[in-house]
Amino acid sequence: MNDDDELLQAVVAMVRRARHVVVFTGAGVSAESGIATFRDALTGLWERFDVAELASAEGFAADPGLVWGWYEWRRMSVMRALPNAAHRAIAALASRVPKLTLVTQNVDDLHERAGSERALHLHGSLFAPRCFDCGRPASLPSDVPDEPDGGRRIAPPRCDSCGGPVRPGVVWFGEMLPEGVLQQAFDAARSCDVLVSIGTSSLVFPTAQIPVDAHRAGAKVIQINPNATDLDAIADFNLRGTAAMMVPALVRAAHRCT
Ligand code: NAD
Ligand code: ZN
Repeated sequence: MNDDDELLQAVVAMVRRARHVVVFTGAGVSAESGIATFRDALTGLWERFDVAELASAEGFAADPGLVWGWYEWRRMSVMRALPNAAHRAIAALASRVPKLTLVTQNVDDLHERAGSERALHLHGSLFAPRCFDCGRPASLPSDVPDEPDGGRRIAPPRCDSCGGPVRPGVVWFGEMLPEGVLQQAFDAARSCDVLVSIGTSSLVFPTAQIPVDAHRAGAKVIQINPNATDLDAIADFNLRGTAAMMVPALVRAAHRCT
């Protein structure tokens, strides 16, 4: 047995003993589905745009078509993508431990499409637009462009109630996270025995505090990420590998031993 196997076995033993597991995911869990992570998303076509122009209320007010077009392109990319083995393994793990809380920073719907019944979406969703002016939920346009290229301006639909422009239902820079969802995530982190952080750079606050709070409350923290992050210092186990490789291996091993 090499060091990696021993590490995995130790993690498996911990997951098997856990009564409440929190799975905390970031953009990296969807990378192997072909969805660019935050930094990748700024390359290519979009590198010429300032992210504050695309992901802020000020940016939307200044150029709604630019922002709506970018999010429609992202929504299309997600709709064309499929959940990967990591999303599926997380959904399977939920039926193998007494309690699992899935907390995600992602705005895609790949956890749900992989079979996870409920994910706490800390940064909102590409699939829940609302009115920029009155805040009422809006429906998604049915006439989505076939080949959105990410560079095209698309005028946002208008709100049925007040006629205001419809905005994406994601949390932008400078905005509060949905309070109830954030509270549930922190409550879960402070009461779980194991938190598995997968594919997040651990740089975005307040969400980066979630694994830290779990650690302070006595939970074991496992991190799955091919790269080093700020969480390395406090994680009890750092599994260096991609989500689609490591998460199914962990869940399979945990299942075999029971
Ligand atoms: P991030 O882009 O800051 O970091 C991504 C992390 O994933 C990095 O640490 C990287 O090393 C890791 N990673 C890359 N490939 C991986 C793989 N195959 N397996 C496992 N890990 C991998 O993402 P973040 O920490 O989630 O924060 C960025 C913000 O951008 C989030 O708030 C999120 O809402 C948003 N975002 C969401 C999506 C999405 O919904 N899929 C995509 C891009 C950005
Ligand atoms: Zn309205």
